[in-house]
Amino acid sequence: MARVFVITGPSGVGKGTLIRRLREAIPELRLSVSATTRKPRPGEAHGRDYWFLDDAEFARRVEAGDFVEHAEYAGRRYGTLREELDRHLADGAPVVLEIEVQGAQQVRGTMPEAIQVFVVPPSFEELRERLESRGTDDPEVVQRRLEVSRGELRQQEQFDHRIVNDDLERATDELVGLVREHLAEAHRT
Ligand code: 5GP
Repeated sequence: MARVFVITGPSGVGKGTLIRRLREAIPELRLSVSATTRKPRPGEAHGRDYWFLDDAEFARRVEAGDFVEHAEYAGRRYGTLREELDRHLADGAPVVLEIEVQGAQQVRGTMPEAIQVFVVPPSFEELRERLESRGTDDPEVVQRRLEVSRGELRQQEQFDHRIVNDDLERATDELVGLVREHLAEAHRT
């Protein structure tokens, strides 16, 4: 029963934009809001973009087994809260997760039925340009994210579905098509 969709890939590849467009095309799809220990960026809201937790609270919730998956990324912690995911699934809605690659690997173990999509940048240089021009992070943070990306890109072969984000329209169409196909299949079974 494929009702959980994991969108993964390096920071700056366009996962967030693709998911926004995916949800415009398939409004029943709910986004699971992740928890993180990083500070909110300007314009980000608690409970909408992330559940912003301090280190102690995050650690407490890890201990309590509240996370479906969690990972450290560029010195901060990120994770999917079980209650967040279950709330949407209990409503009968399909759910999309936007997570980095270690978290996606964990989901493969705990929720093997989840459909995983790795979003690939057209090139490493393009990824660098996108992260730099996004302007959301300091240069050192961008550098750190790029270093992480190299390792993440090496894992792409392990994912069944890969979408190259070379052209936003085309990549959106591919993602929407893939999700629709899996939802139709889940409906039939
Ligand atoms: P950002 O700080 O740019 O919002 O996110 C950094 C990275 O963490 C991105 O690759 C993002 O997809 C990932 N991320 C966001 N939420 C989660 C989560 O719940 N779990 C994991 N493992 N990664 C997440």
